[in-house]
Amino acid sequence: MTKWVYSFGAGHKEGRADMRDLLGGKGANLAEMASIGLPVPPGFTISTEVCTAFYDNKKQYPDDLKGQVEAALKVIEKAVGLKFDDKSHPLLVSVRSGARVSMPGMMDTVLNLGLNDATVEGLGKAADDPRFAWDSYRRFIQMYGSVVLGVDHHRFEELIEHTKLDAGVIEDTALTETHWRQVVEGYKDLVHQETGKPFPQQPHEQLWGAIGAVFGSWMNPRAITYRRLHDIPAEWGTAVNVQAMVFGNMGDDCATGVCFTRDPSTGENMFYGEYLVNAQGEDVVAGIRTPQPLSSSVAKPGEIPLEQAMPEAYRELMAVRGKLETHYKDMQDIEFTVQQNKLYMLQTRNGKRTAAASLRMAVEMARDGLIDEAEAVMRVNPSSLDQLLHPMLDPKAPRTLLGKGLPASPGAASGVVVFSSDEAESRTAKGESVILVRIETSPEDIHGMHAAQGILTTRGGMTSHAAVVARGMGRPCVAGAGGISVDYNTQVLAAGGKQVRAGEVITLDGATGEVFVGSVAMIEPAVSGDFGTLMAWADKHRRMGVRANAETPMDAETARKFGAEGIGLCRTEHMFFDPERILAVRQMIISDSESGRRTALSRLLPFQREDFRQLFTIMAGLPVTIRLLDPPLHEFLPHADQEMQEVADSLGTDIATIRQRADELAEANPMLGHRGCRLGVSYPEIYEMQARAIFEGAIAVAKEMGKAPHPEIMIPLVGMKKELEITRAQVDKIAAEVFAEAGSKIEYSVGTMIELPRAVLLADQIAGAADFFSFGTNDLTQTVFGLSRDDAGKFLPHYVEAGILPKDPFVSIDVDGVGAMVRIGVEKGRAAKNDLKLGICGEHGGDPASILFCEQVGLDYVSCSPFRVPVARLAAAQAALGAAADRTA
Ligand code: PEP
Ligand code: MG
Repeated sequence: MTKWVYSFGAGHKEGRADMRDLLGGKGANLAEMASIGLPVPPGFTISTEVCTAFYDNKKQYPDDLKGQVEAALKVIEKAVGLKFDDKSHPLLVSVRSGARVSMPGMMDTVLNLGLNDATVEGLGKAADDPRFAWDSYRRFIQMYGSVVLGVDHHRFEELIEHTKLDAGVIEDTALTETHWRQVVEGYKDLVHQETGKPFPQQPHEQLWGAIGAVFGSWMNPRAITYRRLHDIPAEWGTAVNVQAMVFGNMGDDCATGVCFTRDPSTGENMFYGEYLVNAQGEDVVAGIRTPQPLSSSVAKPGEIPLEQAMPEAYRELMAVRGKLETHYKDMQDIEFTVQQNKLYMLQTRNGKRTAAASLRMAVEMARDGLIDEAEAVMRVNPSSLDQLLHPMLDPKAPRTLLGKGLPASPGAASGVVVFSSDEAESRTAKGESVILVRIETSPEDIHGMHAAQGILTTRGGMTSHAAVVARGMGRPCVAGAGGISVDYNTQVLAAGGKQVRAGEVITLDGATGEVFVGSVAMIEPAVSGDFGTLMAWADKHRRMGVRANAETPMDAETARKFGAEGIGLCRTEHMFFDPERILAVRQMIISDSESGRRTALSRLLPFQREDFRQLFTIMAGLPVTIRLLDPPLHEFLPHADQEMQEVADSLGTDIATIRQRADELAEANPMLGHRGCRLGVSYPEIYEMQARAIFEGAIAVAKEMGKAPHPEIMIPLVGMKKELEITRAQVDKIAAEVFAEAGSKIEYSVGTMIELPRAVLLADQIAGAADFFSFGTNDLTQTVFGLSRDDAGKFLPHYVEAGILPKDPFVSIDVDGVGAMVRIGVEKGRAAKNDLKLGICGEHGGDPASILFCEQVGLDYVSCSPFRVPVARLAAAQAALGAAADRTA
């Protein structure tokens, strides 16, 4: 015979905390609390297997369920000395749902089940309080009527409001027995009217009705949506908990409350919660009366803390708090009831908390010896660190939504709308806060993005230029907000009938992708000492290195401040847009002869040399991976007539020639044309100049600091071994030249990005010419999916919403497809060269789920934007700890 029902309390120990799959979270914890001797009213849990069997078997219960429920009900009756349906003193029960993970959207709670027209009289006599009995009866009809029978709960509330108006009272507590009797009559009529049947009077029928409603709610649309959004399989099912009622509404020596064993918003080790005297659970949540604090230490004048109102129950609750934390080793979220000064526990679970609280609790619990350091590292969600490092919107601040895009770079920012990067720069210089609004950004916008407080684009995905650059700079960014239209001509931003003009204020929330009209109050980040402590513990446990994607001295310094162990990707093209250099870059591109290009490149050389000198100095001996020029040349070309004229003048030619060359170079493709090493192959002088700048910069630093840097030169977009061989030869040739000129040498390596499917499939060949691989998963995702990274924002959010893809593959690596490619690249690369260094520098290098994948495939390091370095350090530690746990399991 299958066991479907598990009793708890009154000496029955059939369940435990680790049986949450079978008993649901609530049932497992009730059983656990009862078995460690806490005062839990006796009850039983109908297992999640019943739910699964119910749906597998055309909504029929298993044959032997009824008998097991009846037997378990008898156990409760015996334990409390009362009987179900007893006219003189009835047993009442609560019925609650409880899945493995707490799941809003499902049936909540029915209290006081077992009351009917006869037992209500018995309860009134037994408690010597008929008002209490009739109040309980009306609560029961109200809850059962709405959650089981589907009557709109407002209809019930209306009836109470009318009764209070007629009686001339404000609070429910001022209504008398006679009023509640009237309300009950009204409720019964309402139920009859709405359902066509009288309110069920038979307690057993009531019980099965409530059990059926819990199982039924597992498949209601809200629950199905919630499960889909949170990856909860339907097969898990829900359990049903039936428990003897205790009453918080029996008089002034009764109460009900909720509390957290520590403050869930700050993490402070203080008892935090509230209670209501003479009330049942739903009153605390409903907000009809103002709940009171628990401890005297936090009570404001006029408030009556539980500590003062019911000192005995408070003392007991404090003891329970200690016992629960020592037992569960985590902050608990507790529900309790006091009946005639006696405390009863109704629920405990690990409490939800803010990022700041999570960090503080993990560190303090480890310091107090409640958990160990490794456990503390596992407790903090790496993604939540973003919240701690950036300003965020004050959750209580009022706001008007304009529209929504992708949450491309976290943090919040307010400022006046500007539509051009030049204006962003000039207004910022005047001391204004600006938000740069563009349809999309290009490398030409770097200075405006840098000047702006935040960036909004209406086109582009999570690895679009705007998203990547904003994350690198730590600027909040909302990208690809397709529902918002931008008109550069009229200088207006519009969405959903609202308009914002240039110069008016908007606010961005880069963590949610929301855009608001006007300014919204913000909370500044406060990084406590606990942050450094947790990071140090994380570093002890991680295997992979963590580097940063950085090219400016400022980014490099930020990266070091956050603990980066080197640079994993320096995108050299970002260095070309400085106003001092762009003209030389354009001259180089426009000239149609090698000698013309070499002349222009020689002007760039000192700038690049200085760039690298600075990076090597800041990184003080840590590895620095420099990627040679990657984007197609047309990205650097001037668009405005004035800029074209400037280039024409400097080359002694006319604007028509410039325009013609620009047309020749123009490409309309998802960045798959004449770029990456293809440029190096066509125009060797470009990479030669960059290599010279790197080696000369490195030798200068070696002399200055007495310690030579170790540059890692990286060739982008390699698909064929020959491409790498040709470009590597360019680098080696220049190295030999520079070393001969300087009379000294430094160590360096040359590797490649792996960002094309062909490179993956032939990684064993390519490894023969490479000292390292760095997976460029942005381009690899683009090329494996055959999906332009800049157009992805148009439809990927819909794909994710519709469940076609579990997550945006430009944010979190597509383990099945792109991940399979990475795996092949790793295996083939290492098979050919077992000491091949392997890293990742796509945006995935800062995403915790992708970092876990990187640990599993055995990469040596991840590289991500500077502000994500702490996230990556923690995620890498968790991945390593998880892998270690798997090995010992
Ligand atoms: C990549 O493709 O993953 C990468 C890091 O390079 P980029 O984003 O500059 O193309
Ligand atoms: Mg790339």
